Amino acid sequence: MKLTDLPNLSSKRADALQKSGISTPEDLLMLFPHRYIDRTRVQAISELSGTGESVTVTGTVKKMEVAGFGRKRRLIVSIEHNHSILTGVWFRGISWLQGMLNPGDRVAFFGTVKRYGNRFSMAHPDVETLKNEGDTEELSRIVPVYPANKEFARAKITHKLIHSWIRIILTESNPSEFLPESICSSLGLPKRRDAFEMIHNPQNLKETGTALDRFKFEELFLFELSMARIRHRFVEKKQGPEMKEPGSYTHRFFNEILPFTLTDGQKQTLREIRQDLFTGPRMHRLIQGDVGSGKTVVAIGALLMAIDNGYQTAFMAPTEILAEQHYHTLASFLGDMDIEIRLLTGGQNRKLRQDLLTSIEGGQCQIVVGTHAIIQESVRFHNLGLAVIDEQHRFGVKQRASLFERDGNPHLLVMSATPIPRSLAMTLYSDLDISVMAGLPAGRRPVKTALRTDRKREEIYRFLEQNCSEGGQAYVIYPLIEESEVMDLKDATMGFEKLKKRFPGLEISLIHGRLKREEKEEIMQRFHAGEIQILVSTTVVEVGVDVPNANVMIIEQAERFGLSQLHQLRGRIGRGSRESYCILMPGEKPGKAARFRLRKMVETQDGFEIAEADLKLRGPGDFLGTKQSGLPDFRYADIVEDQWILAQAKEKAWQINDKDPDLKLPGHKQLRTVFEPYFKERSEYYGLG
Ligand code: ADP
Ligand code: MG
Repeated sequence: MKLTDLPNLSSKRADALQKSGISTPEDLLMLFPHRYIDRTRVQAISELSGTGESVTVTGTVKKMEVAGFGRKRRLIVSIEHNHSILTGVWFRGISWLQGMLNPGDRVAFFGTVKRYGNRFSMAHPDVETLKNEGDTEELSRIVPVYPANKEFARAKITHKLIHSWIRIILTESNPSEFLPESICSSLGLPKRRDAFEMIHNPQNLKETGTALDRFKFEELFLFELSMARIRHRFVEKKQGPEMKEPGSYTHRFFNEILPFTLTDGQKQTLREIRQDLFTGPRMHRLIQGDVGSGKTVVAIGALLMAIDNGYQTAFMAPTEILAEQHYHTLASFLGDMDIEIRLLTGGQNRKLRQDLLTSIEGGQCQIVVGTHAIIQESVRFHNLGLAVIDEQHRFGVKQRASLFERDGNPHLLVMSATPIPRSLAMTLYSDLDISVMAGLPAGRRPVKTALRTDRKREEIYRFLEQNCSEGGQAYVIYPLIEESEVMDLKDATMGFEKLKKRFPGLEISLIHGRLKREEKEEIMQRFHAGEIQILVSTTVVEVGVDVPNANVMIIEQAERFGLSQLHQLRGRIGRGSRESYCILMPGEKPGKAARFRLRKMVETQDGFEIAEADLKLRGPGDFLGTKQSGLPDFRYADIVEDQWILAQAKEKAWQINDKDPDLKLPGHKQLRTVFEPYFKERSEYYGLG
């Protein structure tokens, strides 16, 4: 059956459907009602309360009159049942209704009842004419209401029309089941065809929920099956670069160079990495650790284990500032160890770049620290054994995959400071192993966080001055929204000028993304070295920047930042032994959501708690950045609300993938026809061949 076989489908309507993404009968079936009108609640007019209930009433048309003029012109239809009267009022479609209804007709009205004095009335009720009064059987049903859009309205595609089309499709075609029998029966999921019936022609509202769960399961199952296959094909079945136990570089670093003892979280994570590296299949691991938990040290440990085994390594960061910083950290930690470390970023001159590429290809360079410049085609490794991606949520899946696809199947370690609830992480990033790195280094004192209005500015400035005179350093952060970069840079620049005037004795600098690489580098170097006391900055310092001596952060126009972003920013301070202070200064009176965010920041410093609140606030799509994260936009499922379905889908998908990875069993034939194209699309999207 084709869509064009449907009645009342003009080319204009076909066009409107097409524009809404509907080009096959199945697409139309997948268009689910966004709500239902429960017409099964029929009430006698005499029993109405008129407090806004939505009901069905029946009666005989007594009177039809048009009243009022101009915009007040309306049709009033009175119906009577057992001597009680109710009126329906229409301001639109008057002549159409006049043609449809006649006094004496038996009708049903569906709508919301209002009471005016002792009269009951419905505005714009839905009307159906009945053969006999009280013949409620034909209307005792749940009526689906389909989502409308401009295209539909223009082509006069009503939800009644959609519903009639769907009824035809359901009788004339048989949407085939592709979930294996065993899954449907063990989870009690309705069959696909039955589920469509339950969605489009439900007997009761409970049934619509059952059916919807099946479709949620369906899409989550396909997703999990694709993750299972990626994991199976690209991780488990691939041998990673072969490594033996850690050697002298690693031992020297941990036993002689590192100036502090590792936290339990760091030790545990390092054990897991070591386990991965020294047992055959390639590593594909995610470290989730709150800001300041000390992920860099763990990354260095992993790099050294690989270098001990004669391999090259890569350490990729999302910004130039962060790549620089990592480069300097590595250089200072490993300076005495005779390891060649090079920095590779976008803006380097050709000669230097050529030299770098030669050194990487020749195998002299042992650690390449850099931005996404690392994953460009022109960068050829001699023997890449391990790649670490810092702040991985800042990269897209494609960028991750391009390291994945490198010759020799390098081990892969990705690190993120955006904690998402563990159970959610395990199901969403199910192609990765996850280490949750709990705890912060000892001796950290919580950052004192306060919300202050502009009236306190002078007081805050005096505090800032005092703090700097005692040797502390500060960040002053301004928001920067990409669409209006120029304007917002103005805020930061003006703030910078004001501060310079106010504190002539202090060294103050301004940093933002528009500066040249060398300029940024110089400023950060001077800030690290303590030569700059106040760093005025846009959010370029948001990720990863580590200057332990900086202990004050003032966030201007704080109401404009997201919750996770505020947490990341605040994570720049509280890294050293000084007492730290974060002062949130709203630029204008914050709205309700902003107040909630700011209050949350004052209340807690627990990254997981903040992430959970942010997830609730923004919804999963926005929070996880689905486009970036590589998650599909699920049509029916909500990965937070429907976590239990997600868990079931994961379990079933992994079982099937274990048992029959290529879906060759006869019971998986239908599944294969649906899954293979899905997987092809997903893996292309992922950038996996
Ligand atoms: P993040 O996890 O946010 O990337 P970093 O790796 O930047 O955190 O570490 C934050 C700071 O804590 C750095 O200055 C680092 O040297 C320091 N640090 C890391 N581990 C420890 C530890 N076990 N004890 C004390 N300080 C540590
Ligand atoms: Mg970091």
